[in-house]
Amino acid sequence: MEKEAKTPIEKRIFTNRNLKLRNINAIGFDLDYTLAGYRSPDIEILTFEKSLEKLVKEKHFPKDILKFEYMENFAIRGLIFDIKYGNILKTNKFRYVKRVYHGFQKYSKKERRNLYSNRKLDLSSENYRAVDTLFEIPETYLFAKLIDFFDKSSAKSQSSSYKWLYDDIRWAVDMVHRDGTLKNIIRKHPEKYISKNELLPLALNHFAKSGRKLFIVTNSGYEYTTFVLEYLLGKNFRDYFEIIIYSSKKPEFFTKNYDYRVISDGRCFEAEGGNVRFLENKLGVYGDSVLYVGDHIFGDMVKTKQSSTWRTMMIIPELEHELKTKVTVKNDLKKLITLFELKNRTNRKLDMIIEELNRLIKEKEEEFENLNPESVKEIDTRISKLIENENSLNSKLTRVLTEIKDIEEKIDRAYNPYFGELFKEQNELSLFGDQVLDFACTYTSDLTNILYYSPTEYFHTPIQLMPHDKEPEFLDIEVGEIGEN
Ligand SMILES: [Mg+2]
Repeated sequence: MEKEAKTPIEKRIFTNRNLKLRNINAIGFDLDYTLAGYRSPDIEILTFEKSLEKLVKEKHFPKDILKFEYMENFAIRGLIFDIKYGNILKTNKFRYVKRVYHGFQKYSKKERRNLYSNRKLDLSSENYRAVDTLFEIPETYLFAKLIDFFDKSSAKSQSSSYKWLYDDIRWAVDMVHRDGTLKNIIRKHPEKYISKNELLPLALNHFAKSGRKLFIVTNSGYEYTTFVLEYLLGKNFRDYFEIIIYSSKKPEFFTKNYDYRVISDGRCFEAEGGNVRFLENKLGVYGDSVLYVGDHIFGDMVKTKQSSTWRTMMIIPELEHELKTKVTVKNDLKKLITLFELKNRTNRKLDMIIEELNRLIKEKEEEFENLNPESVKEIDTRISKLIENENSLNSKLTRVLTEIKDIEEKIDRAYNPYFGELFKEQNELSLFGDQVLDFACTYTSDLTNILYYSPTEYFHTPIQLMPHDKEPEFLDIEVGEIGEN
């Protein structure tokens, strides 16, 4: 408890499945967005601008697009490209579409239902692609921006599908990553694009000193990886690691039996390619004694879980923003819970009044001939009193519903003005939130957060809450204070 009080919330490590660090004998790291952080929005702006240049130069897009300015805080991870309709979607954990943007135009509930009805998205379809990594954030904005541009201009004939645009953008973004455009600029100005965390050497030593074997598995090639590692850890970066695997072709690294090429067989063994079995044999550490730290939900988390028993720690740099926002909206959230309670209570009262009204009206109709004028008058008075109550409760309900909507929108915008909270969609988990819960044993915003914990820490899964555990009475929230007459 004392530790939790001392560790700032945005530096904490969260647990989905119990993890005893004591039982871990080897710890592996991904490179990009795990060992190496990238500066936002500089890296996104660079990707965005260089991709636009490629589109103009190689795909003959109008020069006007070079004037586009990058907008931060548009896309988040876990969104889905709808390639055919040119939309960007956010789904809940069941893959039902809950939010749709076409360019920067949000679909109304009706438009959304018309197009996506009530069916689960089949993410294996070639019409959809999920935004899994932070590298894909600028591409998502580029897609929206160009859809918006071409919809408004006559520059290119309108096709019934946006696949041509998606394909050109995919090609351009892929190209700037692969042909060295980005890497050359990053290498020239590493201080602008790579965030050098001074605590990284300490964090690695924290593990190494307690006898753990450290290794790297990265899809990046030898030249770029060694450049970045030298920038982050100095010339002797190899001293930290037993093994470095370059060009690893994750996720296939975990599922296929690719061959490897030895680069150096010194104290630090370096190779290109290979597979998980070869790596385990080389380490002499197997299965659940290995902890792998990465940021890619699919390449680093899902595939390790599906093909090995490696334990995982997911690095989610966005978590810092999400947690800070959660602190700022805490009071709004409390207010929301009391408003929902008030809404339910008002609805229950309304139901009772309507039931009583119907009963009286029926009584008056059926018994009319047997009733004396006095009784009829009495019934009428009761009816008009009930109608008055009904009207007053209805207007109260409207006020409560408006307030709920306003607060929900305010909370949503605080996380992200377009797509809201990363891990949630309305009251449910988002696709991304669900994947993190399913596949990451632990998660945190930065791997140096490990310095707040012991190298033999036991990360405990918190008590799982059922809906009945989350009733306001158990969450210490005053019910019925807001909006009561
Ligand atoms: Mg990565």
